[in-house]
Amino acid sequence: MSVFIVLLGAPGAGKGTQAKLLAAKTGLPHISSGDIFRENLKNQTELGKLAQQYMSKGELVPDDVTIAMIRERLSRPDCARGAILDGFPRTPAQAEALDAMLAELGGRVGVVPFIDVPEDELVERLSGRLICRAQGHIFHKKFNPPKVPGVCDYDGSELYQREDDKPEVVRNRIRVYLEQTMPLVAYYEKKGLLVKIDGTQPIDKVTEALWAVLPEEAKSA
Ligand code: ADP
Ligand code: ADP
Repeated sequence: MSVFIVLLGAPGAGKGTQAKLLAAKTGLPHISSGDIFRENLKNQTELGKLAQQYMSKGELVPDDVTIAMIRERLSRPDCARGAILDGFPRTPAQAEALDAMLAELGGRVGVVPFIDVPEDELVERLSGRLICRAQGHIFHKKFNPPKVPGVCDYDGSELYQREDDKPEVVRNRIRVYLEQTMPLVAYYEKKGLLVKIDGTQPIDKVTEALWAVLPEEAKSA
C-alpha cells in the first residue's frame, strides 16, 4: 500500500522547504499544488491562467479544479510508493477527495505533520522568501540566504520574490488559511493522524522532528 505524507501548516511555515528535504531522503516525489499552478502559469496553460486570478489575490483556486489536477498527478507511476504532499489538501472538501482518491489507488495518508509557526514570524518569512526561477528552490534573505545573492545554490538560476509574497496579499493568504485550512487540523486529529511539529526551530531540527514521525514504509525506498 502506498503511503502519503500530508504537510499541514500556514503559508510560510516551511512546508516546501521540508518537503524537498524529505523527498530527497525518502525518494518519494514532492507534490506541491502551488508549484504545479506556477508551472502552468509559466507555460500559459488554461489552468495556469485560471489559477492566477485567485493566486494573485491570495484566494484559493476552486476545489473542483484543484482536485482534478491532483487526481491526475497522483495517478502517475512515480506515486506508486506514495508522495510528500505540500499545500494539498487545503480545504475539508479537498481532504475528503484525497481520502476517496487514495481508496481508489490503494493508498493511505500515513501521517499529517502540522508545522506550527506563530503569525508574526510567518509574515517575516514570506516577506523575505526568494524562489528560484528554474525549479522553485526556496531561500530566505536572512534565515536561509543563497551563497551568492540573487543566484540559486542548486542550479544557478535567478532568484525572485513571488508576487503573492507582497504584504497586502500575505495578510489575505493568512486569513484564508485560518478560515479554510485550519479546520483540517481537527479533521486529521480525529483520524489520529495529526502530529504537531514546532516549526520555529532551525530548518535541520524541523527535518529531524519530521523524520521521527514518518511511517517506516516512507523511509525505506
Ligand atoms: P511554505 O511552503 O510552508 O509556504 P517555505 O518552505 O516556502 O514555506 O518557507 C517560507 C520561508 O521561510 C522561506 O523563505 C524559507 O527559506 C524560510 N524558512 C523555512 N523554514 C524555516 C525555519 N525553520 N526557520 C527559518 N526560516 C525558515
Ligand atoms: P504557500 O505555501 O506559501 O501558501 P503555495 O505555493 O502552496 O503557497 O500556494 C500558492 C497559491 O496557490 C495559494 O495562495 C492558492 O492561490 C493556490 N493554491 C495552492 N494550493 C492550493 C490548494 N490546495 N487549493 C487551492 N488553491 C491552492
